[in-house]
Amino acid sequence: MVPVSSMADRLFGTTGVRKVYGKEFDLEMALDLGKALGTLLGGGTVLLARDTRTTGLMVADALSAGLLSTGVNVVRTGIIPTPTLAFTVMNRRLDAGVMVTASHNPPEYTGVKFWSKNSMGFTPEEEEKIERIYVSRKFKVAPWNQLGKESTTESAADEHIEAILARCDAELIRSKSFTIVVDPGNGAASVLTPYLMQRLASKIVTINSQPDGHFPGRVSEPDESSLGDLIQMVKEIGADLGIAHDGDADRVVFVTEKGEVVRGDRTIALLAQDYLGTTKGGTLVTTVDSSLVLDETVKKRGGKIIRTPVGDIQVAVKVKETDAVMGGEACGVFILPEFHLAPEPFLTACRILEKMARTGKSLGELISGIPAYPLVKTKLKCPNEKKAQVMEALAEVLPKALENVVQVLTVDGIGITLKEGWVLVRPSGTEPVIRITCEGPTEALVKKVSNTAKLAVEKTIKSI
Ligand code: MG
Repeated sequence: MVPVSSMADRLFGTTGVRKVYGKEFDLEMALDLGKALGTLLGGGTVLLARDTRTTGLMVADALSAGLLSTGVNVVRTGIIPTPTLAFTVMNRRLDAGVMVTASHNPPEYTGVKFWSKNSMGFTPEEEEKIERIYVSRKFKVAPWNQLGKESTTESAADEHIEAILARCDAELIRSKSFTIVVDPGNGAASVLTPYLMQRLASKIVTINSQPDGHFPGRVSEPDESSLGDLIQMVKEIGADLGIAHDGDADRVVFVTEKGEVVRGDRTIALLAQDYLGTTKGGTLVTTVDSSLVLDETVKKRGGKIIRTPVGDIQVAVKVKETDAVMGGEACGVFILPEFHLAPEPFLTACRILEKMARTGKSLGELISGIPAYPLVKTKLKCPNEKKAQVMEALAEVLPKALENVVQVLTVDGIGITLKEGWVLVRPSGTEPVIRITCEGPTEALVKKVSNTAKLAVEKTIKSI
């Protein structure tokens, strides 16, 4: 058997398979991934959906063919958000879910992400099982009269919307007559979020809300640099809130009434106040790249914080294992186990609106109570095949290059706690880059540390 870890180019990255179509990914791969999942399941029914990418329908067709050939039934639903797929698999008690998506990557990427019946993404162990079958090519072949059957469903988004509304105080939110601007970035939430918000607010304005896999409105990753139009629209019409998603809408980023893009870890801190308030000593799970503000928030409420490697699956696994009240990532991932174990951006938006309605405060006012420490993010190009060696060398080099090192952690990449602040260096799981993130109490200090780390990484990449 080929040891998976020694394969030159792993199929699965941080979160599912994500590759450039035509270069690293072709339809045969999709067909074989369908066969591999069908072989692993050995029967049952799978829900299959996609985001708005131009390659989505064709990749989904190939996946479906692969699954059917193993005798597994496929329920097809068109373009829906990833969280809607995960929720529906759980809600309808199906055996697994398959989402054709490359999340927030550029439009030329495509990908596949697998979901379990408990609404959680496949764990790295489950992905490894798929990969082993995929590499061995020992696929189950169902005879002609025992092939899987394909059917379609149109109501997944409606079921998800109703389940969300049943969980929040819609009447309280409606009583405040909010104005909301929604920017789905031409992605998978182009329908769901505007429809959900229509049930809660008095006025909804949408931008980039026509599903389009070319992503003509903006780049798919929602952050300060890509949300200029949303910021402007929120300010121009005096809206109470801006909501933005990535391509498959498992992420959400909020914009305040003043046009400020709120970093995900501060939003987690804001919501964690309430979630921790309902329990005694509750647990919050986040990734290694989240702000220190989360530690402070959790500590103040007598809770416990657990940090995992980057990736929503890693967070979900720990949330389940520790029975945590909430999990999340700074990039805009929120896991609310009160509902399910996939990222849940829509109920998160409702919880924000509820908090605004309950307190009578704007999001800007609420978030001003959560400190924002200076954070600098940089990335350096590094070929995938060099990454392991570079990281190995950096484990030696980096702690020596920095001053006031308190602790070196290797949960995911190299995390260095300094006397004031921290540095995290980790290879991207989806792109040929190494990312450097620094946080600290002052702008000047963070810049200095970031530059030192950047130089050390640059030098190491060149030397290998
Ligand atoms: Mg995504």
